[in-house]
Amino acid sequence: MAMAEYVAAAGRYDGMVYRRCGASGVKLPAISFGLWQNFGGAELQESCRAMVLRAFDLGITHFDLANNYGPPPGSAETNFGRILRGDLGHYRDELVVSTKAGYDMWPGPYGEWGSRKYMLASLDQSLRRMGLEYVDIFYSHRLDPETPLEETMGALAQAVRVGKALYVGISNYPAAETAEAVRLLGEMGVRCLIHQPKYSMFVRTPEEGVLGVLREKGMGAIAFSPLAQGLLTDRYATGVQAGTRAARMESLKSEDVEGRMAQVRALAKLAVERGQTLAQMAIAWVLRDGVVTSALVGASSVAQLEQNVAALEKLEFTAGELTAIEQILG
Ligand code: NDP
Repeated sequence: MAMAEYVAAAGRYDGMVYRRCGASGVKLPAISFGLWQNFGGAELQESCRAMVLRAFDLGITHFDLANNYGPPPGSAETNFGRILRGDLGHYRDELVVSTKAGYDMWPGPYGEWGSRKYMLASLDQSLRRMGLEYVDIFYSHRLDPETPLEETMGALAQAVRVGKALYVGISNYPAAETAEAVRLLGEMGVRCLIHQPKYSMFVRTPEEGVLGVLREKGMGAIAFSPLAQGLLTDRYATGVQAGTRAARMESLKSEDVEGRMAQVRALAKLAVERGQTLAQMAIAWVLRDGVVTSALVGASSVAQLEQNVAALEKLEFTAGELTAIEQILG
């Protein structure tokens, strides 16, 4: 059966908040959508298409991918490419599409990490899979300890120079290497637009240095796994049920869930007192300080996505609420 032609909602920009990405010219939606999980496979599921289109209708202009998202690796980009071709193609200039290279992608010595050889070949592959001429943001997905940073940053700068990326970013880089990446790119005349760190109430590492560097350098930040992969929601209120990420026992284990449940229950109670769900409070929390431009969420249903976007109805915290959260987190 032919799918109905998609026409974007007329009011799609009415409810979303857009925040400037560091000191750059570009703004990102306060909530962005990532396709790491639930978008793989050889066949595009109707639920994937429904989530992406609903996201766009809710004002989510930024979609985050990487070469290896699937499984199998590459299939999330292929599936997103189908949605672009079939539905969102007309809206290309309203979209910020990112991809990354860094993790294991193809066999042999040129299939991962940060060499110029790998980075630029990977970007070409990503563009082919998505059917795009350029991505908006191209990331180095992780620091390569064996390749000179100059070479990896040189590959990012080259991607900008040849028009295959409009902006570049880094992900999972520690503070010192972040500052050095900014300096090296600056020498090449390219702004390091954004850092993508893992950041949530349960993962505070960026506060130890990275966020300070971003503030100082005028870089933006997009916090990945702000819901701690679903832990900071009501997903596990009745234990680890079939169909959840923890039940798959890949990136999230049932032990992780059990170890956190007392904190989750206390946080959920606080969220209710604020008039929102725990997922909504977790998103508002990563956005509480202007250094984080956008919360990069995942979802396995349209209903989750809708609930998450409704976090925007209450972003502010009282000092008392922030203290109560710190006490719960210990
Ligand atoms: P989240 O922390 O937002 O976790 C998303 C998961 O939480 C969903 O798949 C769903 O789990 C559950 N969930 C989401 N909303 C709700 C809700 N309202 N109620 C109940 N459960 C909910 O982020 P992800 O870990 O998915 O990461 C987001 C994105 O960040 C990725 O897609 C990717 O783009 C990026 N990322 C980047 C990395 C990097 O190294 N740069 C690494 C990891 C992620 P379920 O599927 O069980 O329903």
